[in-house]
Amino acid sequence: MARSGCLWQKIGVEIVTRFAPSPNGHLHLGHAYSAIYAHDLAKDAGGQFLMRVEDIDGPRSRAEFADEFRRDLEWLGLEWDDVPAQSTRIESYDEAANRLLEDGWLYACSCNRKDIEALEPRQGADCIVYPGSCKGAACGSGEPAALRLDVDKAMAALGELVWTDETAGSVIADPREFGDVVIVRKDLPASYHLAATLDDAADGITAVTRGEDLFTSTHVHRILQELLELPVPHWHHHKLLLDDNGQKLAKRRGSPALKDRREAGEDGLALAEQLRLQQMQSGT
Ligand code: GLU
Repeated sequence: MARSGCLWQKIGVEIVTRFAPSPNGHLHLGHAYSAIYAHDLAKDAGGQFLMRVEDIDGPRSRAEFADEFRRDLEWLGLEWDDVPAQSTRIESYDEAANRLLEDGWLYACSCNRKDIEALEPRQGADCIVYPGSCKGAACGSGEPAALRLDVDKAMAALGELVWTDETAGSVIADPREFGDVVIVRKDLPASYHLAATLDDAADGITAVTRGEDLFTSTHVHRILQELLELPVPHWHHHKLLLDDNGQKLAKRRGSPALKDRREAGEDGLALAEQLRLQQMQSGT
């Protein structure tokens, strides 16, 4: 089932997509949906489909999950090329974070969740929004510091930035939903935002595909691309598979693992076709 190609394809750029799972649990049907989406988008256009293991969160990541992911993708009939896992790219995260810090876009913040709650923050899209109180001042509980992006400063300097989503069209980057988002975590060398933005650029991803729950994250990524002079891909935020209660499938909610279905002898190719049909019906 060929999908009508995205903008890049129309203007002759090779489509390179990726599936970027975190090895902290089994894959479920939502991951299969996402992987098939990215795979078909690239392969239908003669492009490349890559898998990147997002194991930056060392203590929560396990190599055996990454091996299992490969067996799951094979079972679904997908073909991919592996690119280096995040744990091998720490130097590039440090380098970028230092550059952002030296250029004055980041500031240190030691606040923990309790400190931030005491500041009576507003609620953002999916989390409380840190109100920026530590900018230029000692703060929090004296714990090790995270580095936050000075969003107002970056937006004022960069002016209006646009990004393109296959479904939403042209979108003006507005990361204020996140407040001064964490770019380097206290416990890790990068946040999801920094690591994914750098990795997508390093891997030559031209079409970033992921669930629509991550749509707002793209505002942050677009700002980081501009500050770090990285290439700007095209985005596809696809619909999410929901469970019977209308909730998104999640490892922590115990959604059935692909591994169990595979090991029970279910036909992976038939399952993949079923998911493709669902994608056509949902228009993503
Ligand atoms: N590792 C992220 C996840 O599993 C990937 C998100 C993305 O595709 O940007 O949700």
